[in-house]
Amino acid sequence: AGNGKFFVGGNWKCNGSKESITRLVSDLNSATLETDVDVVVAPPFVYLDLVKSSLTYRIEISSQNSWIGKGGAFTGEISVEQLTDIGCKWVILGHSERRHIIGENDEFIGKKAAYALSQGLRVIACIGELLEEREAGNTFDVCFKQLKAYSDAIPSWDAVVIAYEPVWAIGTGKVATPEQAQEVHVACRDWLKKNVSAEVASKTRIIYGGSVNGSNCAELAKKEDIDGFLVGGASLKGPEFATIVNSVR
Ligand code: PEP
Repeated sequence: AGNGKFFVGGNWKCNGSKESITRLVSDLNSATLETDVDVVVAPPFVYLDLVKSSLTYRIEISSQNSWIGKGGAFTGEISVEQLTDIGCKWVILGHSERRHIIGENDEFIGKKAAYALSQGLRVIACIGELLEEREAGNTFDVCFKQLKAYSDAIPSWDAVVIAYEPVWAIGTGKVATPEQAQEVHVACRDWLKKNVSAEVASKTRIIYGGSVNGSNCAELAKKEDIDGFLVGGASLKGPEFATIVNSVR
């Protein structure tokens, strides 16, 4: 931690029911959270409004996706306008599951980011390499290419948090070591410095995601360039998520 306010996001993915989410919200409402941390949760679309209306104002709401442009005849999609209408402040874009399972590409993700920002929705911009890309020594190139796609599409990084999520670490229980994460965060910051500006490089938060839990978060949080976390599995448990939020202490 070291660049801007610590940021912890919980990505609930396609999990939960009315019953389990009501319980999770109640656990989060009663949790003690460090004041100097931005805390955001991303429920599935169908529960966004339920969570927004029952969750403490202390925690902001994110969606897990948004449509690429203005709403209209796009069956099954959710527009940025609808998200901001219900009080959603953030959107997660470029998540590896959307890249590699759904097939979203850099250009599509960049356009989504640009549209979300144009409407005042802040963006958690995910990047990260596959295991074979890491093993081939291409981690930095992959991350830089993904960063460039955002950079080419968006006018400003002011309302963007970058989430470095190595795909081999997501949902696998195989967390990156603090050194592995720190190394990529530094490289990304350096890329921003060379390709955007020194100011953006020092101001933009770069958070880590991939099997973060209550036991490994404290070591990761100590690293200078790890400015927070994006948490999947462990964000479904209120007390453990609170431990991760408070790991900045
Ligand atoms: C994620 O999907 O953003 C993520 C980091 O998942 P997990 O924590 O379960 O690895």
